[in-house]
Amino acid sequence: MAYDFDLYVIGAGSGGVRAARFAAGFGAKVGVAESRYLGGTCVNVGCVPKKLLVYGAHFAEDFEQASGFGWTLDDAQFDWSTLIANKDREINRLNGIYRNLLVNSGVTLHEGHAKIVDPHQIEVNGERFTAKNILIATGGWPQIPDIPGHEHAISSNQAFFLKELPKRVLVVGGGYIAVEFAGIFHGLGAQTTLLYRGELFLRGFDGSVRKHLQEELTKRGMDLQFNADIERIDKQADGSLKVTLKDGRQLEADCVFYATGRRPMLDNLGLENTAVKLDKKGFVEVDEQYQTSEPSILALGDVIGRVQLTPVALAEGMAVARRLFKPEQYRPVDYKMIPTAVFSLPNIGTVGLTEEEARDAGHDVVIYESRFRPMKLTLTECQERTLMKLVVDGKSDKVLGCHMVGPDAGEIVQGLAIALKAGATKRHFDETIGVHPTAAEEFVTMRTPVAG
Ligand code: FAD
Ligand code: NDP
Repeated sequence: MAYDFDLYVIGAGSGGVRAARFAAGFGAKVGVAESRYLGGTCVNVGCVPKKLLVYGAHFAEDFEQASGFGWTLDDAQFDWSTLIANKDREINRLNGIYRNLLVNSGVTLHEGHAKIVDPHQIEVNGERFTAKNILIATGGWPQIPDIPGHEHAISSNQAFFLKELPKRVLVVGGGYIAVEFAGIFHGLGAQTTLLYRGELFLRGFDGSVRKHLQEELTKRGMDLQFNADIERIDKQADGSLKVTLKDGRQLEADCVFYATGRRPMLDNLGLENTAVKLDKKGFVEVDEQYQTSEPSILALGDVIGRVQLTPVALAEGMAVARRLFKPEQYRPVDYKMIPTAVFSLPNIGTVGLTEEEARDAGHDVVIYESRFRPMKLTLTECQERTLMKLVVDGKSDKVLGCHMVGPDAGEIVQGLAIALKAGATKRHFDETIGVHPTAAEEFVTMRTPVAG
């Protein structure tokens, strides 16, 4: 049977755009539907605007530290609406670039909500199209627990468009988004409290990293409350929010920001018209080649709930395009050694195993750790310290993991990830000449283990 498209991609986010462009480049006839914004979460309400706000928040420290270098600044003033307007302009520019990328690579773009009608048919804006394969790349959506008053809370989707910077913000959650946004609000001058339900935030990260960030945020004056969770939120007559915690305490805030994870975006997608199965957590179930239980339908990115990061969605998009249209170039995505950064202030950068994971896996673990005051701060009053940590396998000498909390940690860890991917040993690190004077050179000069 002749289909309208060889591949129809639902969702023009990180993974969908990558798969569509490369499939078209391999000669396939490709259609894409996008219901909301070109570039998806990352470009519109994720990585990109978040990083711009983090840059904005960092200026507070820069201004404070500048006096140590002889600069005198008049009272610095911050205007939220300027930052948001400039951010919006940049995102608009990126939306245009994504449109051009798709159209110039020969992809047919439909702007509207796509619904799967049957395993080979999609409906967008009342029109039906047939496709040999359909790719679900619909991403995720913030998930706010259904507590009384949850309608008064916001998620990251709204935070990027607030009309003004709230004076008092309660951030709920202990993952990437909570820690990053707490840093943004705090840096920009809001009185910020982070509430996390467990003992210590950033579950899954290395223990030293979690503790170090806790200390650094506390030094900066952020109010961290662990073992704390919200029971209800009530709006008061003056518009402020009264927050009652499960332990009975009450807090007041102007904004309650929930960052408690993301669910797969499957709303009105028509999965009931297919044999696509969901996993226990509700994400689309796929095999190692992104094939769902419906032979003509594939899925990738956040909607499969594997690793919710843009570079992973990009790699999956590439793998799908190659698998379908350039099988001789197909290479499976390697999910080991994925580097990642949390753009908290200070940043976290990490790749490979945490100390806890390495011990659980039975490695003969040797730990190298260094904490120091960054050189840039020596002329200032700032007492911030940087943490660097190597997790090494004592038997093979392989470096299993690198972890850092400090300025530019994300930038530094990208290069280390290549070394770890190539199987670098501690001896390779030791034999590498440092770049002086940098913070990063500490990764090649740690000689004495702190724990075995
Ligand atoms: P998405 O990018 O979410 O794209 C899905 C697209 O599908 C959307 O545009 C949506 O509108 C569209 N869509 C959904 N349903 C339909 C439908 N039925 N019809 C048509 N279109 C539809 N990752 C990083 O690596 N680094 C970061 O710094 C980072 N920061 C983040 C910050 C925040 C606040 C958030 C929320 C996420 C962040 N992420 C970050 C994660 C990253 O954004 C996601 O992992 C990535 O966007 C996933 O890509 P995707 O293609 O799976 O989905
Ligand atoms: P995460 O899964 O990272 O964290 C969710 C947090 O919310 C956890 O601390 C979790 O606690 C807590 N939580 C979950 N449910 C509840 C609940 N019902 N009540 C109270 N707390 C709850 O999700 P995020 O929303 O922060 O981010 C989603 C994903 O987006 C990230 O996992 C990451 O993959 C990606 N992302 C990447 C970024 C980057 O690369 N820099 C930046 C932002 C997002 P517990 O640990 O106890 O389960």
